[in-house]
Amino acid sequence: FGERLPVIATGDEMERLSLSLNRMISRLEDALAYNRRFSADVSHELRTPLTILRGELEQLLHTSRMPMMQRDSLGSALEEIDRMAQIVESLLTISRLDSGTDGMDLKPVDLNCLAQWTVDQMHLMAEEKNLTLRCSRAEPVAILADAGRIKQVLVNLLDNAIKYTPNGGEVTVSISAIGATQLAILEVSDTGIGIPAGSLPHVFERFYRSDKARTRESGGTGLGLSIAKAISKAHGGTMSIESVEGRGTRVRLELPLSPLPVSAVPGLKLQT
Ligand code: ADP
Repeated sequence: FGERLPVIATGDEMERLSLSLNRMISRLEDALAYNRRFSADVSHELRTPLTILRGELEQLLHTSRMPMMQRDSLGSALEEIDRMAQIVESLLTISRLDSGTDGMDLKPVDLNCLAQWTVDQMHLMAEEKNLTLRCSRAEPVAILADAGRIKQVLVNLLDNAIKYTPNGGEVTVSISAIGATQLAILEVSDTGIGIPAGSLPHVFERFYRSDKARTRESGGTGLGLSIAKAISKAHGGTMSIESVEGRGTRVRLELPLSPLPVSAVPGLKLQT
């Protein structure tokens, strides 16, 4: 919130009302801050036991002789631990971004270059499904960003596009800059299964999955889009989604352009 009603000392009902509303806002702020701290602490505390558990199970799997069935069970337990560790890391990221203590390292970055680099890294994943993965080449688009965080947004969006597009489909990343609004636009489109209209308003909610069984099969946690949106917001940007079931999905990210003109950004390059 950060805002309070102006209180004019008139001694009447209006003054009392403003004071009590301001007190309520303070209490709400305290409760929210407590919740954020709590979820950050819980996520942080879960990290160590999970790492230890993983290590112990791995050692057991590699050093002891055991029947195949037990080996398989241990393998499944390890997979579940990895899944849990992934959720814990995601929750930690979200709570850090929420409380603004993430300490983002903002530098001028070329969004085009960052996108191309991420696309190159995801090529193998796309190839496994025989997908065409394209990144439209354009002039450098300078944004003031924490490159690691924006890369995480791109990975989350591409991971979804690849995951939810059947074999033989297409995934395209396109980037442009709009001078009039000083915005960089990045779009990730796919020709995949799409999202039902009723689910679309909820996809940015934490842990939301439009089809639980299907997503579970493809290894999702329901946190990818909420993290992507929180990172965009922390950069002063916005994220929106359009989708037609059975046809495909397009996610649009808008970020403020770097205040320096592209040509004036010294040594404009990828920073990680
Ligand atoms: P998940 O880890 O389950 O993919 P996300 O937060 O990334 O979680 O996405 C939330 C839900 O939105 C997904 O479970 C999926 O149902 C839907 N979704 C996201 N991106 C796409 C896409 N490109 N195509 C179809 N469905 C998508």
